[in-house]
Amino acid sequence: ARRKGRNQIAFYDPAQMEAARRRLSEESDILTALEEHRFALWLQPQVEMRSGRVVGAEVLLRMQQPSGEWALPEGLIERIESCGLMIAVGNWVLEESCRQLAAWQERGIMLPLSVNLSALQLMHPNRVTEMLALLSRYRIRPGTLTLEVTESRRIDDPHAAVAILRPLRNAGVRIALDDFGMGYAGLRQLQHMKSLPVDVLKIDKMFIDGLPEDNSLATAIIQLARSLNLQMVAEGVESEAQRQWLTQAGVELAQGFLFSPPVPTERFEARYLQ
Ligand code: C2E
Ligand code: CA
Ligand code: CA
Ligand code: CA
Repeated sequence: ARRKGRNQIAFYDPAQMEAARRRLSEESDILTALEEHRFALWLQPQVEMRSGRVVGAEVLLRMQQPSGEWALPEGLIERIESCGLMIAVGNWVLEESCRQLAAWQERGIMLPLSVNLSALQLMHPNRVTEMLALLSRYRIRPGTLTLEVTESRRIDDPHAAVAILRPLRNAGVRIALDDFGMGYAGLRQLQHMKSLPVDVLKIDKMFIDGLPEDNSLATAIIQLARSLNLQMVAEGVESEAQRQWLTQAGVELAQGFLFSPPVPTERFEARYLQ
């Protein structure tokens, strides 16, 4: 900006202006979508590979586009975080997931759901009380709700993470470490793994993609998970060859397009809960 007369400022960087305008309009899009109930939760089955049985589902956020289609636009989660709406959206996701679990449990269906938590949600200490209240309000049975926590610099402080996760786990919530095996945070976190209250390790798609040929990293991760006594879920399984390799390597559970992409709840129910 350069001064131009008394109270006038002239901006000379149209690219920066345009970027700011785009960000503001994206943020108001998110707000509008919230107000107009244009968020939905889709479900992707988690499958026991040997039997093909659906043993759970991951809850994934979708937003209705102006075209009417449902999608999770690239970077939407990050934008929701950066404009300060992650707590609101995250609470909605959690509450809807609990409502779904309660509705199923009413019908005698005990299928567990896995819900993604952003590091931002995890790092709010009063989240614990809120989540515990949610669990008791919906009478969620122990073991039927898994929270997926992503490795991140923000949960690099294992003591803070443990303080949050421990009481939830004591209340019967299972904890999954999402996207496991990526980056520096992963290596750091390994040292603290024994103190982290984690039940499930989700092997990132990155390590599944190269299977069966390129399997040295997947093998290392599987050995590690086994030595820590963690259940494993392979992410992004797309081929029969991958399924076979994983099954032989002792991985029991998976998600991926080989079985099903995420689908709307009604379609999930029609397909798997009849
Ligand atoms: P994620 O937790 O790692 O979720 C798995 C992603 O992989 C999903 O993308 C899913 O649709 C996709 N996927 C599953 N199987 C396959 C496959 O075989 N091939 C390929 N190419 N992709 C597969 P999605 O739904 O676009 O979600 C992207 C990310 O956004 C998620 O990654 C998660 O980190 C985040 N996310 C989604 N919903 C929520 C939410 O409710 N809360 C939070 N905090 N994050 C969410
Ligand atoms: Ca996840
Ligand atoms: Ca993941
Ligand atoms: Ca991922």
